[in-house]
Amino acid sequence: MITLYLGFAILLVAGILFFISGRQRRHAGLPGGRVIYTDTRSWGAVERSLFDAELGLTGKPDYLVEQGAMFIPVEMKTGRTPAAPHDAHIFQLAVYCLLVEKTYGKRPSHGIIHYPSRDFEVDYTSELETSLLSLLFDIRRDERRSRVNRSHADAGRCRACGFRQACDQKLA
Ligand code: SF4
Repeated sequence: MITLYLGFAILLVAGILFFISGRQRRHAGLPGGRVIYTDTRSWGAVERSLFDAELGLTGKPDYLVEQGAMFIPVEMKTGRTPAAPHDAHIFQLAVYCLLVEKTYGKRPSHGIIHYPSRDFEVDYTSELETSLLSLLFDIRRDERRSRVNRSHADAGRCRACGFRQACDQKLA
């Protein structure tokens, strides 16, 4: 049951964040991310999922980079490299920053999103954390609703959405 719950929690983070992140970004002013050059030889694979019981969150960054006493999460993305990180990817990285802080007791100053042809460094600011917590609150609230309306008019999102088959509000 716990496994089911944890799986569901991370599915929420991966999926529902995508739906509502546009709205959150307008409100919160997410950090855009800086293009950086990294030495991937210092990236260490993560053995097990990180977990926070208080928020019911679990997740496993693709890599952790040790910088002094700090661990920096790295999220790998495939497909087309965007000009700036997608909102949903920023939130996903923020979840990993939060889990890293809870697990290792040291707040990461930033995380890294790796796209095929560019890496972005995204600051883990208190504003981003607040925005994430607010988003998680919205998700928990919407879980209890029998119907949650579509929050965008972007057919491209629907085309790429994993919930498309079951969704009666899809645009494509
Ligand atoms: S298919 Fe449905 S759930 Fe997916 S993005 Fe479109 S409206 Fe949202």
